[in-house]
Amino acid sequence: MGGLAVAARLARKRHDVTVCESGAGSGGMLGAVSRDGFTFTSGPGAFTLPAVYRDLFLKTGAALEDCVDLVPVDPTTRCVYDRGDTVLELPNATRAGAAAAFDGAFGAGSGADWNRLMDRGAAMWGVMRTAFFEVPSEPAKPRRAAGGLKDFRTTMPWRTLRPLARAYLRDPRLRAFAERYAVDAGLDPRRAPATVAVLPYLEQTFGLWTVRGGVHRIAEVLHERCVDLGVKFLPDTEVADVSTAAGAVDGVLLAGPGHGAEVSRIDADVVVMDRPREEGGYPSASGVVELHLALDAAPDDAGRPYRTLLFPDDPAAEAEALFATDAKPPADPTLCLYAPSDAAPEGATAWTVQVRVPAHGTGRGRVDWDAPGVRTSFQDIVLDLLARRGLPVTDRLRWCELRTPADLERATGVPGGAVFASPVAGGQPNRSPVPGLYSVGASAHPGGGLIGAGMGAALVAELVGRA
Ligand SMILES: Cc1cc2nc3c(=O)[nH]c(=O)nc-3n(C[C@H](O)[C@H](O)[C@H](O)COP(=O)(O)OP(=O)(O)OC[C@H]3O[C@@H](n4cnc5c(N)ncnc54)[C@H](O)[C@@H]3O)c2cc1C
Repeated sequence: MGGLAVAARLARKRHDVTVCESGAGSGGMLGAVSRDGFTFTSGPGAFTLPAVYRDLFLKTGAALEDCVDLVPVDPTTRCVYDRGDTVLELPNATRAGAAAAFDGAFGAGSGADWNRLMDRGAAMWGVMRTAFFEVPSEPAKPRRAAGGLKDFRTTMPWRTLRPLARAYLRDPRLRAFAERYAVDAGLDPRRAPATVAVLPYLEQTFGLWTVRGGVHRIAEVLHERCVDLGVKFLPDTEVADVSTAAGAVDGVLLAGPGHGAEVSRIDADVVVMDRPREEGGYPSASGVVELHLALDAAPDDAGRPYRTLLFPDDPAAEAEALFATDAKPPADPTLCLYAPSDAAPEGATAWTVQVRVPAHGTGRGRVDWDAPGVRTSFQDIVLDLLARRGLPVTDRLRWCELRTPADLERATGVPGGAVFASPVAGGQPNRSPVPGLYSVGASAHPGGGLIGAGMGAALVAELVGRA
């Protein structure tokens, strides 16, 4: 999404843009799995801060709303704790509504606790928007800490999310809810910056959104926008290196002639990399298992909210297990269920379950997702957990497809299939010391997720224009 967004912006500024993509399609982590009339979004099931993509579409042609049907997710989430004894439904984009829902589920005072944390998230956003998100990262120009001591105290760069959440929130289930924003972003709440608190603030303030037909439609229409603007796509074309013969960028070297390019190099004055790298600053970033379930329809499917979080018996223990150095496939993780109403054929239901898991590999904190039996036994664990948490599906299962971090690594090249989904995680500078070389995407400033990739693209397009 970072690469597509910057391609569209630069093409609009009359640059001659070529996208080299090692895979067959485009969209990277945001794609679709289509089979037998089912279409599952693979990657983000929902997104927030649509202003980032509204700005992109408006500045490159027709408005986002003219290209896709944005749908607010209401309730944003059904949270199920204690094996169904506590159920909370959070209304979309209402501070008072969220506070009332927390009071109802966890007892009087919980809503006020949450609001105090959201006030903190709001203050952090106020500082970070102008001092971090809207400022490109350039090694030649270290960013000044805007605003001085007061802003420093607001963002608290020395503090991590867990102690912040524990200082504001008394109920362990509410703490687990706050920590989800780190875990979902691939970050350990004990090490993630306290500024992760801006994520629930953004979701609550600007709403949670999906797209009719699936969130992957945004990647599809962005690809179409690029084509309309004259961007040339070279699929199956892997870039091996950036060519810098005379100390400045003069092109890219291809790993081999692919279907898209019968040449071994492409000349260019500017190269923007959206290439996942490991050195994102948070080496323990986790991965995601997705289980797409093609089901026969059941009577209570109709009333099911779009997103359900099924918490484990001990939610606080999840991060410890997920980010342990001797990691294993988790035995009792939180399940995040997406139940779109428009992804299945007549008489059927399409669900996607996402589970945060250790990334793929054989080193510390990694799990070898390709080792014999790991994939099938984890699929059984997820199906069994769904049944134990009140949603048995095996009797109505037509087929299912499991995607592990190893599959994601093969599809996108992201090391270990680790998802840096957080727009507060920072990363590579947008402008490198080599003239003409820039970085966008999840491993670049201001970080990952659809927000980070989209904001980084705006920053890089601006930098290229200035060069
Ligand atoms: C299951 C899942 C759930 C997620 N949930 C959320 C969510 O709820 N909210 C959210 O905001 N984000 C979420 N994310 C993260 C979000 O999808 C990503 O952060 C974002 O899409 C990353 O975009 P990107 O442009 O940085 O990189 P990528 O999507 O990784 O794209 C990089 C592209 O570059 C190509 N490539 C790599 N190396 C080369 C090379 N050498 N030569 C040529 N091409 C190359 C790859 O094939 C890929 O297409 C989720 C991700 C996953 C997998």
